Amino acid sequence: MRVWIVAIGSELLTPFRIDTNSLAITERLNAIGGDVQMKFVVGDNLAALADVFRRAAGTVDLVVCTGGLGPTADDITRDALVEAFGLAPDVDEAIVEGIRRRFERRGLTMPDINRRQAVVPRGATVLENTRGTAPGLLIERAGTTIVLLPGPPREMTPMLERLIADRLQSRSAGRGLFRRVLKITGLTESDVDARAQPVYGRWIDAPVPIATTILAAMGQIELHLSVTAETPVAGHTLDSAVAELREVLGTAIFSTDGRPLEAMVGEQLRGRGYRIAVAESCSGGLLSSRLTDVPGSSDYFDRGAVCYSNQAKIDWLGVSEASLAAHGAVSEPVAREMARGIRDRTGAQVGVGVTGIAGPGGGSEQKPVGTVVVAVITPEDERVRTLLLFGGRDLIKFQSAQAAMNMLRLMLGDR
Ligand code: ATP
Ligand code: MG
Repeated sequence: MRVWIVAIGSELLTPFRIDTNSLAITERLNAIGGDVQMKFVVGDNLAALADVFRRAAGTVDLVVCTGGLGPTADDITRDALVEAFGLAPDVDEAIVEGIRRRFERRGLTMPDINRRQAVVPRGATVLENTRGTAPGLLIERAGTTIVLLPGPPREMTPMLERLIADRLQSRSAGRGLFRRVLKITGLTESDVDARAQPVYGRWIDAPVPIATTILAAMGQIELHLSVTAETPVAGHTLDSAVAELREVLGTAIFSTDGRPLEAMVGEQLRGRGYRIAVAESCSGGLLSSRLTDVPGSSDYFDRGAVCYSNQAKIDWLGVSEASLAAHGAVSEPVAREMARGIRDRTGAQVGVGVTGIAGPGGGSEQKPVGTVVVAVITPEDERVRTLLLFGGRDLIKFQSAQAAMNMLRLMLGDR
């Protein structure tokens, strides 16, 4: 199934907005054997969009478009379809009624311009939108299925799922492209490759070949595995590939389903019934922010204190002036006192202290920029590590939070 994806909206051609719908659409269509061959980003320009529709018809099997189905004058997707194929712009009174009722339920009167959303070009099929006023449309043209979906992801996603279940799945003969994203931390990209290459190198010529890509992102390495096969075969193949990689990479793999480190650590904390409190200096609250990015984190996240100055460390965490004077704020004794201080003051089972030099200034010969000390205390264990991180300020902050969570993950995982 050859596919084009069209993202419609002039805002997508500015520096302020990016088309993310096409990523979600690609992932879902790949899984049912769709081969995305081209993507277009088209402004609110009727002639340009009509031109894309005409080029698509007879060229590919499926075109999925998002955006521009709203009621305002800059929403031109329907008009472009009408224009491209010279269709009659019939208005479906049942849709007008449906939109009118949506407005009435909210105590509002439907503005006249919303009638535009009830235009169903002759020959097109209406796709119901349960989360918004704009219905989607589907039309067949020269062997090409053209689908128009609304732009807001929360409206688009369920409509896409419905379309796949009702019409597209049956075209895939059960075959699709399936991926696993393994996330790894605590090793360099070359370490990961040295250990993993002998394993994934064999997969290229396997009966069910697996393609492997290695990607280094901030503070972590990703291994992307992909297989094209029938659903159950792909599942088994990927499961055993992940198991083989675990043998060589061990606990450096923290996630095999794309979930981030904060989600994995959160799951461990929840599983043990532990609450966590963190004291942050150089990470400036990022550790708290990442931990609370996870839905449901209130189950285990107690609080975070950003104690940047020495005085804050003394006042809020009870760090001793003597330790600060003798070892400096970026030192193992101070990190330990930070973790202990926040833990004792809150009664949380897990206390974390992070202190370091994010740069670009503030480094010295003995403690260069990137020196970060992390202390983690759990009911079972207490560890303090001094790390030397590289990169700019952003990266050092990110990796400080990453290192703290990874230390905690390994400590909780050991049991
Ligand atoms: P509406 O009735 O809400 O106007 P619409 O179908 O006309 O729906 P647009 O006006 O094009 O959709 O976009 C509405 C919003 O949907 C945008 O502000 C943006 O937040 C989101 N959106 C649109 N296209 C995309 C895209 N390709 N990727 C991610 N988000 C998108
Ligand atoms: Mg709109």
